Amino acid sequence: MVQGACLCGAVSYKVDAELGPITGCHCSQCRKISGHFTAATPAPKDAVAITGEVRWYRSSPGAQRGFCPTCGSYLFWEEFDGLLYLMAGAFEAPTGLTMDGHIFYGDKGDYYEVDDGLPCYQTGRRSPVIKG
Ligand SMILES: [Zn+2]
Ligand SMILES: [Zn+2]
Repeated sequence: MVQGACLCGAVSYKVDAELGPITGCHCSQCRKISGHFTAATPAPKDAVAITGEVRWYRSSPGAQRGFCPTCGSYLFWEEFDGLLYLMAGAFEAPTGLTMDGHIFYGDKGDYYEVDDGLPCYQTGRRSPVIKG
């Protein structure tokens, strides 16, 4: 079972589901909310037991992002389809998980490159691979 928590510990969660690989997202929203790029994996929302108060920000008409109101840790993204995307930086080790690629690489910041050999998609997963 994967467990996660924010930096201050006011928000924590347990996931009662097998998690798939972690995907990096380099879109401008993810870069701004996290300070760099994000790395997340989805879980059925019903399988995530959250303790503490999460503040939600409606970042686009179809999606919201959840963070700790005390320390600001960015923890969750969801688009109301029954899945909750968990930001992998909040996971307690060992996770047993690995990364499988990078999406919205075409929107990444101009100050870094990813060289881990994983596929880097222009936008979403059905878009062309532009690196890796
Ligand atoms: Zn916190
Ligand atoms: Zn993103």
